[in-house]
Amino acid sequence: MSSVRVRFAPSPTGFLHIGGARTALFNFLYARHTGGTFVLRIEDTDQDRHVEEAVQVITDGLRWLGLDWDEGPDRGGPHGPYFQSQRKDIHRRYVQRLLDSKAAYEFEDKERGGTVIKFRMTREPVTVPDLICGNVTRPLNDTEMRDPDFVIVRSDGAPVFHLVNVVDDIEMRITHIIRGEDHLSNTPKHIALYRALGAEPPKFAHIPLILNADGSKMSKSDKGAALHEYINAGYAPEAVRNFLCLLGWSPKSDVEILSLDQMVERFDLPQVQRHNARFDQDKLHWMQGQYMMKLPPERFVELGRPFLAKAGLLEGQPEDYVRRVLAIVQGKPKLFSELPEWTVFFFREDFPTDAEAVAKTFGGQPQAWDLLEKLRGCFARVSDWTHTALDAALRDLAKSLGVKPAALIHPCRVAVSGKAIGPSLFHMLEVLGKNRVLQRLAAAREHLQFD
Ligand code: GLU
Repeated sequence: MSSVRVRFAPSPTGFLHIGGARTALFNFLYARHTGGTFVLRIEDTDQDRHVEEAVQVITDGLRWLGLDWDEGPDRGGPHGPYFQSQRKDIHRRYVQRLLDSKAAYEFEDKERGGTVIKFRMTREPVTVPDLICGNVTRPLNDTEMRDPDFVIVRSDGAPVFHLVNVVDDIEMRITHIIRGEDHLSNTPKHIALYRALGAEPPKFAHIPLILNADGSKMSKSDKGAALHEYINAGYAPEAVRNFLCLLGWSPKSDVEILSLDQMVERFDLPQVQRHNARFDQDKLHWMQGQYMMKLPPERFVELGRPFLAKAGLLEGQPEDYVRRVLAIVQGKPKLFSELPEWTVFFFREDFPTDAEAVAKTFGGQPQAWDLLEKLRGCFARVSDWTHTALDAALRDLAKSLGVKPAALIHPCRVAVSGKAIGPSLFHMLEVLGKNRVLQRLAAAREHLQFD
């Protein structure tokens, strides 16, 4: 294992922002690329309410994306689990050190009342050497010019973000801080704290922000900003992960579809771009479509099953049947949430029928019913119930009746599935099985109502 140690340090807000998910991914990829350690630290000191659920949102989100952490909540490990709120003694010890060395001092806050502890900030601008942004020196603003010192412990005794963040990074021997660019402006404070504590600052890599398609900054309330929206909508984690890795990082080739192994192999910080990344929903959707077609069948089943179960379609269904159904519909739905609608007729006799498809196929064409009846008779004589045999039988029948195969195929599809579109008809018939197909062809006239 290399000495690289990185961390994802989210605050449990009840929400995993897509930007946070990308920060986690970049940290994970860097750790795996360098053979280092990926730490998960929940920064829950500012939270007054119970955060268990909010932590769950984060850990569920990371697991969904396949981002396994090495140390952190419920991973035990030599240093875990890491909840900032459980490390108060450590934080207090460090504050005492700063007080002892006079790098910090008590201060009467007259406006708000009470005593706070302030850090004696250097009067010179601090340059942040950043692996992505280069050397960044921000001039002090007016308030900082007047008084650059800042509060590290509030009057209620609670240490602030800057302090606990730095102390934990020192204690956890973090070597690279990969985080959102919104923290770049905090970094001079952090570097000054490292120095005052006699610690070497880690390397910094601030990654660009994510923008909405219109160029505005993506904020919490924007549609599509929360990872769980993609989970619930039935995206494949592989697709979202692939999409996120390209938000601000470029593998320096035209290849856009990357497996996790390829990402790990190619990921490095110098290739993270400096300009902000635009969140292109169309590209995500395209990528999702690619994955939906190419996922290994067993993975397609694994991801699809929960959506069928939630729609109540799996009760009493043999596992093998479910697999065969999913194998033939793969490539049709673009999202797993669409799966029930593509497959309901495999699992229910009272499947919905598309009135338009029924009207188009049977409306004003009474011969369609006769053809369907003839097809039923023909299929009843097929003993080798395979898609090839069914295909051949239907074509033979069409020939002998002097009609086009389509004149049989369309009514048959609508009769057995209620729709005009779907997977290959003959594969569908094979999977549905002889009994079910014959029954549906017989009941079609009654089942397919239209005016
Ligand atoms: N808790 C901070 C956040 O969620 C962490 C910042 C950092 O990564 O240092 O923004």
